[in-house]
Formats: sequence, structure tokens, C-alpha cells
Amino acid sequence: MSSWQVSEGLQIAIDGPSGSGKGTIAAMIGKELALPVLDTGLLYRYIGWRAEENGVTLADENAVLSMLDAAVAAMDWQAKGIVFVEGDEEKDCTSLLRSESAGSRASKVAAMPKVREALLGVQRDIAKLGCVMDGRDIGTVVLPDAQGKFFLTASQRERARRRWSQLKAKGEEADLDNIAADLKARDARDTGRDCAPLKKAVDAIHIDSTTMCMDDVVERVLNVLERRKLINKK
Ligand code: C5P
Repeated sequence: MSSWQVSEGLQIAIDGPSGSGKGTIAAMIGKELALPVLDTGLLYRYIGWRAEENGVTLADENAVLSMLDAAVAAMDWQAKGIVFVEGDEEKDCTSLLRSESAGSRASKVAAMPKVREALLGVQRDIAKLGCVMDGRDIGTVVLPDAQGKFFLTASQRERARRRWSQLKAKGEEADLDNIAADLKARDARDTGRDCAPLKKAVDAIHIDSTTMCMDDVVERVLNVLERRKLINKK
């Protein structure tokens, strides 16, 4: 039970670069306010995965687009993750989409305007009843009318360190320099693309979490929402 009264249909958009903590913050806010949490990065990770499963090279945009409709039709996206459904086959692919390589593939397909277009309606539909949605273009493109918009950043080194400790905690091999190089490449692709690049919406609140703990970030977000009377203590 949430101790907050939440205004009906409240949409909270949390954008930021990889490793900025937006997924963690979105999950904590969603739990606090009893709102569904939607991680839009999973959608792009899923398309990258389907491309790979279909033997498609990501450099070949036409080949990616030729499998796009079938991939979207076979996707069941919910707050808890993504299930691939085709005929009798049903596979929860969420955990395999979380790998570093899936993230890197995602940022390549995410630069393709037709891929973004195909995923836009899916995101808007699911957000209708209210949610916390995290990504790169939620406040700017997907939910431009969201009542709460936050842009989360942290230094590149700190983001790489967080990613490294997450992987270590999962018992996976991780090299800090490789992770930092991958983050840098992804930042460049995400901010430099023509279509829906990663950028702060003009009306988003910027939070630099480099030296903050996640609880403090959550408190900042809740304070803003409370001041705007979008949530009230019960
Ligand atoms: O957030 P996550 O690391 O899972 O995202 C993977 C990739 O998907 C990002 O690097 C970005 O290129 C892309 N993405 C995007 N727009 C979103 C969410 C993710 O372009 N709303």
C-alpha cells in the first residue's frame, strides 16, 4: 500500500544516459507511488535481439526493417518485462536482454527512425493509465505532456563504476575500462543521432546524481511531485 495519494493518470518521465541510475530510480518511485514502471530500453534491446536471432546485420538497416513488424507483433511488453510470443512458443526474454552486448545492439537499432516510429504507439498506449517510464526520449517525444519530467545524469566515470559493480554483484566478469569505452560510444550514438536524441526536455528537472545516493534522488523527485500537488501524503 502506498502512503501517497497520486493524481489520476500521473505520468512520470525519467530520462538520462546509460548508468545514470534512472532504472533504479524509476523502480523506487514506482514502488513508493504504486505505479507501473516501464523500462523503454528493453524495447530497443528486444528489437536488437530479434535482429540477431534472425541473422540480421545491424549495419544493414533495410534488413532490420524487414523483420521489424513481425518482431513487434510477437512482443508482449509489460511492467515486469518482455515476453516473445510466436505460435506455440512463449519465451520471457527479459533477463537475456539485460546483457552489455544487448545494450550496445539496442543503441544501434534505436538510431533507426522507423524502429522508433514502430515503438512509439506501444509506449503511448501503455502509459495512458499512468506510469513511471524511463528512457532517453520520454519527456521530449514519447510523453511530451507528462506532468513530472526528470533528467538524470552522473559523470561518465561514475556511471561506468556503477555498471561495473552491478555486473560484479551478479557474478559476471567486468572490466572497468571496457565498460567506460562502451558507455562513451553509446553516449555518442544516443546524443548524436538525428531522430529523438538523448536530451533534456526544456521542462524537465535536471538531477546530477554523481555524488548522491539513490534514496536522496528519490526524495528530490518526490519533493518536486509533492510541491506541484501531483502527489499528496495520505
Ligand atoms: O536504457 P537502456 O540501457 O536499456 O537502453 C538501451 C539503448 O536503447 C540505449 O543505449 C538507447 O540507444 C536506446 N534507447 C532509446 N530510447 C529509449 C530507451 C532506450 O534510444 N527511450
